[in-house]
Amino acid sequence: MGSAGAPVIEVAGLTKRYTGVVAVDDVSLSVRRGEIYALLGLNGAGKTTLIRMLLGMIAPTAGTVRVLGADVSAGDRSAWARVGYLVEAAAAYPELTVRENLEVVRRLRRLPGSADDIIERLALTPYANRRARTLSLGNLQRLALARALIHAPDLLILDEPGNALDPAGVAEIRALLADLAQQHGTTVLLSSHLLAEVDHLATRIGILHHGRLLDEHDTGQLDHHRRRHLRLATRDDQAARALLRAHGYRPEPATPTGLLLADPRALAEPEQVATVLVHGGVPPTELHPEEEDLEAFFLRTVAPEEGDGHA
Ligand code: ATP
Repeated sequence: MGSAGAPVIEVAGLTKRYTGVVAVDDVSLSVRRGEIYALLGLNGAGKTTLIRMLLGMIAPTAGTVRVLGADVSAGDRSAWARVGYLVEAAAAYPELTVRENLEVVRRLRRLPGSADDIIERLALTPYANRRARTLSLGNLQRLALARALIHAPDLLILDEPGNALDPAGVAEIRALLADLAQQHGTTVLLSSHLLAEVDHLATRIGILHHGRLLDEHDTGQLDHHRRRHLRLATRDDQAARALLRAHGYRPEPATPTGLLLADPRALAEPEQVATVLVHGGVPPTELHPEEEDLEAFFLRTVAPEEGDGHA
């Protein structure tokens, strides 16, 4: 439902205050159809609280939430048939098998067919007849995701979906979410503190810190903000540094060895750097461009906050 780019989630001035702590502080954001929006934040940043308000599980102190055109705080539940969610600990009936757990959900939602499709999609086929209480945490998380996805929702809201999954499991979930967004126009809002998990998956990220939305970036646009440099090593870094300076570059010592060059000229034409070094008698033993990863970018974004006593 809804045209491409229509807002699926609209949050304005959302605030949740507990005694002594503002868990979510005046957050406004909007997520359009087909986006994969990642809320990034350290532990305690307010991600779960924000998601619980999106789902109408707790009432905001102030602000409004609209999901799929319906006002959440008004108690209108009409949108929920089109929403799948996973919040905190993966819940399942411990004495029922994986298949029985999903059959219960299927029947409650009055869906035709069987649960086998979703079991297969989440790689749960080998565990279909195992009782939920015997599952590993990772497979329990898959089961929770299967419950969230069984009715092919238009909107998926996932709190830390990578929790308890091993790297291969995280990669599978990423592929699944990317496919849902691309092939089916499913909108996804997810939270994570594992930044590598959302890199190359999210179309947009919002950085939540001490309850506030510090920054939002389209991931394409994010590339412009990431720092880049050339990393190089030679047999005599001191001589290489002097030589590069003499040619107008500004090399910095790297850790533990080698040099870093962040000059735009060096990044645009690394072969010129190599030529200078070769002609100067200190040929590079290593020379390659490096880009700041999302982790470093995130830490740089939240770092100024850390030194000021959380004013
Ligand atoms: P995590 O990654 O650890 O789950 P989070 O980003 O999801 O963290 P929240 O769980 O939303 O963060 O918590 C935000 C802040 O609100 C924290 O300081 C937390 O202690 C506080 N908080 C959350 N729920 C309550 C509550 N019911 N009563 C009091 N304080 C709460």
